[in-house]
Amino acid sequence: MHKRLFTPGPTQVRPEILKELATPQIHHRAPEFAELYADIQPKLQTVLSTNNAVLLFTSSSTGAMEAAVTNLVAKRCLNLVNGAFSKRWHQMTMGNGVPCDTFELPWDIAVKPEMVDERLATGKYDAVTLVYNETSTGLMNPLKAIADVVAQYPDVFLLVDAVSGMAGAPIETDAWGIDFVLAGVQKAFALPAGLAVSAVSERAFERAKNVPPRSFYFSLPLMLKSHLKNQTPSTPSIPHMYALNAQLNDMLAEGMERRFARHAKMASIVQVWGKKHFDIFPEDGYWSQTLTTIVNTKGIDVPGMIKTLADQYNLRISNGYGDIKNKTFRIAHMGDTQVDEIEGLLKVIESVLGI
Ligand SMILES: *Cc1c(COP(=O)(O)O)cnc(C)c1O
Repeated sequence: MHKRLFTPGPTQVRPEILKELATPQIHHRAPEFAELYADIQPKLQTVLSTNNAVLLFTSSSTGAMEAAVTNLVAKRCLNLVNGAFSKRWHQMTMGNGVPCDTFELPWDIAVKPEMVDERLATGKYDAVTLVYNETSTGLMNPLKAIADVVAQYPDVFLLVDAVSGMAGAPIETDAWGIDFVLAGVQKAFALPAGLAVSAVSERAFERAKNVPPRSFYFSLPLMLKSHLKNQTPSTPSIPHMYALNAQLNDMLAEGMERRFARHAKMASIVQVWGKKHFDIFPEDGYWSQTLTTIVNTKGIDVPGMIKTLADQYNLRISNGYGDIKNKTFRIAHMGDTQVDEIEGLLKVIESVLGI
């Protein structure tokens, strides 16, 4: 029996979209492929509010995160860390031999613009990585305010992991001056995992030309060359592209403003519920629009609750991540999930817990 996903990635995929994955294969050097690619491009640009090229990566989000730090750091990278995914981005930066430093905060504290300003004022950096929506903690960093600070430093590129935020919360890529913003499609895009997208600024492509190549599969100059022909350098996951195209059509039919408003409404319902029965993990003012991390103030058996929801109700939510496992649990309210489904889930949890 299928277990309905309320997990912060992968998320529930609608059957109509799953069917798209079974579209007969086309050849990736044939004109019909270029048509598909060209069809997808402006829709992704609309979702991301950008005129920049939006590249497709046949990899999970991690591949696009690696592309950012291997292609776009000529001098030194500042990794802003306040959760598991931002920490992993730092490890990835180091692991690729890219000069970098970390600025680390406790996991429940958001990165503030003035903190970034202070570090960039040292003049040591030409790139900074930020996770917009920390999926490990349900914390949303103030992306626009941080982007405003980074914009004061013309040589510094802002690289953003928006994996669990993109398509669920607004991202004004061009207006905010973001040089690289990426997401995997298994979060708020509500597609199966295996494809990532990233908007890349013109100046980012320029810099990438002169950074000694650290990756071939994820070489931005090579990806751009193919992109200009509506192609990818290697054979991409074509089934994903059909599904993405169909999903983008549905997203734009709903309208991005309405889609974001639906996410905000679901978030507020879960936050009010979480605050009433438990507590919310991140500091006030920085709660995520796409998932909520609830603090286990009642000392409930979190794995037991998760198991009962799965076994008896075919509903899957997530435990806390890493160090805050069992001390917290996470409910995702992103993708194609509707308000009534969230309300139904919370009622079931109440009955399981007898609260
Ligand atoms: C899920 C997630 C990732 C990792 O994504 P993969 O697709 O598993 O590589 C990275 N960053 C954030 C914020 C995420 O939510």
